[in-house]
Amino acid sequence: MKSLAFVQRNDTRFAVGGFAPVLSVFSYHELGSTVSPFLLLDHIGPGRLLPSVRRQGVEDHPHRGFETVTLVYAGELEHRDSASNGGLIGAGDVQWMTAAGGVVHRELFSEAFTRRGGPFEMIQLWVNLPAADKLHAPGYQSLAATGIPVVALPGGAGSVRVIAGIFDGVSGAVRTHTRMNVLDVQLHAGTSAVFPAADGDTALVYLRRGRLRFDTEEVVEANGLAVLSNHGAGIPVTALEASQLLVLSGARIDEPINGHGPFVMNSYAEILQAYDDVKRGRLEPRPEE
Ligand code: MN
Repeated sequence: MKSLAFVQRNDTRFAVGGFAPVLSVFSYHELGSTVSPFLLLDHIGPGRLLPSVRRQGVEDHPHRGFETVTLVYAGELEHRDSASNGGLIGAGDVQWMTAAGGVVHRELFSEAFTRRGGPFEMIQLWVNLPAADKLHAPGYQSLAATGIPVVALPGGAGSVRVIAGIFDGVSGAVRTHTRMNVLDVQLHAGTSAVFPAADGDTALVYLRRGRLRFDTEEVVEANGLAVLSNHGAGIPVTALEASQLLVLSGARIDEPINGHGPFVMNSYAEILQAYDDVKRGRLEPRPEE
């Protein structure tokens, strides 16, 4: 089994696109390749969007070299990008956007949700791409809540939404570039479960709500990130209270990480190139090989 290595906590909240609170749970800027193939996770909300006539959110901005995964738990976003993909992302829906060679997109609250306001909560996860895929054509996988497989845990311990990877023989809803599991989990108070993670793989658990324990006495409180050991297989979790958690595991991408702002590449020269390409309106992917 994997062992709890350390708990990462960041209690600074900020606002993005006129909405608060936003919590930066982890980033490769702090943790480097410890979290590979994952790069960054922001928890937006839970909070309330006040009704407004003016659209709010994050206006047009570029990305290159990785994927953004958006899980909406409450409220509704509208997405538009330069690869002509778009749509509404509502409660329970997931958007898996492969920026790869480059997209420019906007992430706004939907028209209807802006007008009526209400509870809002989402997670945005950044997933790295291998060097060989970083400049490929962008992609977009839109998963409606109803299309995401749900697996009941044994003994009525809770349930697992299989976003990516495999759990208990059930395959996740998206295609990934490298091997990984992204599991959105609910556990009832006082239950235990073991989540999949291979020996040598990265394993992270972000606790949205509740209290957890792993193989040690240390208690993980809500908004904490548990970083597990590379060695051992399987993540043993006990819920001390009813808990909602995101379980992330996967094969490490052992390549240099060089990132700045909305770009994550392998070298600093490639970052400067990305800024130059945006300036010249050339953030376009090379054709697939
Ligand atoms: Mn974005």
